[in-house]
Amino acid sequence: MSSPAAPSLDSTQALPRADAPSPLPAARWTNRFAELGPRFFTELPAQGLPDPYWVATSPACAAELGWPADWQQSPEALQVLAGNAVWPGMRPLATVYSGHQFGVWAGQLGDGRALCLGELDTPAGPRELQLKGAGATPYSRRGDGRAVLRSSIREFLASEAMAALGVPTTRALALTGSRLPVLRETVETAAVVTRVAPSFLRFGHFEHFAHSDQPEQLRELLDFFVTHHAPECAQAPEPAVAVLQRVSLQTAELIAHWQSLGFCHGVMNTDNMSMLGLTLDYGPFGFMDGFDPGHICNHSDERGRYAYARQASVAFWNLHALAQSLMPLMPQGSDAEIEASTQRLLAAVEAYRERFATAMLGRWRAKLGLVTEQAGDQALADDFLRLMASSRADFTQSWRRLSRALEDATPLRDLFIDRDALDAWLARWRERLAAEGAPEAVQARMLAVNPAVVLRNHLAEGAIRAARDGDFGEVQRLLKVLSRPFDEPESPADAALPPDWAQDLEVSCSS
Ligand code: AMP
Ligand code: MG
Repeated sequence: MSSPAAPSLDSTQALPRADAPSPLPAARWTNRFAELGPRFFTELPAQGLPDPYWVATSPACAAELGWPADWQQSPEALQVLAGNAVWPGMRPLATVYSGHQFGVWAGQLGDGRALCLGELDTPAGPRELQLKGAGATPYSRRGDGRAVLRSSIREFLASEAMAALGVPTTRALALTGSRLPVLRETVETAAVVTRVAPSFLRFGHFEHFAHSDQPEQLRELLDFFVTHHAPECAQAPEPAVAVLQRVSLQTAELIAHWQSLGFCHGVMNTDNMSMLGLTLDYGPFGFMDGFDPGHICNHSDERGRYAYARQASVAFWNLHALAQSLMPLMPQGSDAEIEASTQRLLAAVEAYRERFATAMLGRWRAKLGLVTEQAGDQALADDFLRLMASSRADFTQSWRRLSRALEDATPLRDLFIDRDALDAWLARWRERLAAEGAPEAVQARMLAVNPAVVLRNHLAEGAIRAARDGDFGEVQRLLKVLSRPFDEPESPADAALPPDWAQDLEVSCSS
C-alpha cells in the first residue's frame, strides 16, 4: 500500500501568529485498523474540496474530543477536515464491507465515499475520525465519492441532535463546503462531514469476510473487535457468541430508543448497522410528524420494508444475517456440531426479542411519567399510540403536551379528533398516576424524556435552503436548539407542527 500523498501540514506552513487560536492539544493519532492488513482496506489520500469553507462545527463534539473552543479557527483544521491535508500520524484508508440491501445480498460494498483518517486519543478513549464525501475509493462502484451539501447538513444535524437526545449515534464534528459542483437529480455542491465514533464497524464488515470465504480474516476481525471494542467478550467460552449477544442487546436498546422518539432510519440495510449499536449512516431518515405506524420515510423504499413499525423486526432480521456470517467461526465438524453451533448463535440473537420488549416498555413507561411497574402499562401505552395513530396526531407534540396534561389537557386535546376517547384514556392515565408521586414531579420527569424539539424534515429543509443561498447561520442556530431538545426553544416555530409547505417534502436515497 502506498502512503498517503496528500500534502502534510508541517510547522513551516502554519507559523503561529500573535492572534493565532490556541493550538490543538498535541493530538495523538493511532491507526489500529491499519494493522489488520490490506485485505481489510485500501490506503489512499482524500480528494479534498477546492477552496473549502466551514458550514458548521459542533462545539459539543469538539468538547468530547477535548479540543479547545476555538479549534475551528485553525486554517490547518479546515484543510484537514475538507480532505486537503493530513496531520502527522494520520493514515487515511477506506474499508471494505458487504451487506444485504433491502433483504437481498448485495455483494461487496465498502467505504465508497468515506475515509478513515485515523484514531485520536481523547479523554473518552480512542475516537475514529472519518471524512464522508472526500472522493472516490476502490469501493465507490459507480458513485462519485462525493456527498452533497443538502444530505450532509441533514447528517451533521441529525448526528448531533440524536446525541443530545441521548441516543447512541456516530457524532459529527464538522461540516465543510465548497462550490465544487456535484450532479444528482440536479447540480448541487459538495460538502464533507467529519464523523466521529469509537468504531465504524458494521454488520457488513463481518458478512464480507464470511461470504467471500476468508475465514482467517473473519477470525482476525472478530479478534480485533473483541480486543478493542468488546473486551468483556474475550473471556467468554465462545467470543463470537458473546459478541453476537452483545450487539443483539445493544441493537434492541437502540431500536427501542428510536421507536420512542418516532425516529425512522430509512435504510436499515446490514451495511448500515453498527457493531456498537450506534445510529449509523443518516440518509433518508426522518422524525415522524403525524403518527402513522406504517410511515415510510424513504421515498425510495417502495414496499415499506423499513417503515416505522417494521424497524424492530428488520433489526432482528439483520442480526440473523450477522449470526450467519459468524458461523464459520463456530465448531462444525459433524452435523450434530453444526446444529449445536447454529442453536448457540440463534440463542444469542434471540436475546434481542426480550430485551427489545423490556426496553420498549421501559421507554413508554418513562414517557407516560411512570416509575413503578404495573401489569396494565403496556396496554396503556398501546392505547395512547392507537389514539395518536387514528388522529394522525403529531408524535413529538402529543407526548410533549401529554407531559403538561395534568395541569392543562386542552393543548393535547387539540391534536386529537376523537376527544371523548382521549378523555377516557386520560382518566385511566390519571388514575394510574396516583401511584407515581406529586403531579409536579411527574411533569418534570416527563418533560425530561419527551423532547420539545426534534430534527423535523422541514427544519432541516429550512437550514438547507438558507445554506444554498450562502447563509450558514441557520445550520449553526438549529444545531444549538437541537443540542437542548428537552428545553422549550426560544423560537416557538422550532417546536411547532410542520407548516403547509412541508407536507410534500420527500427524502430519498439520493445524497
Ligand atoms: P448508503 O445507501 O448510503 O448506505 O450507501 C450504500 C453504498 O454505496 C456504500 O458502500 C456507500 O459507500 C456507497 N455510496 C453511496 N453513495 C456514494 C457516492 N456518491 N459515491 C460513492 N459511493 C457511494
Ligand atoms: Mg451506508
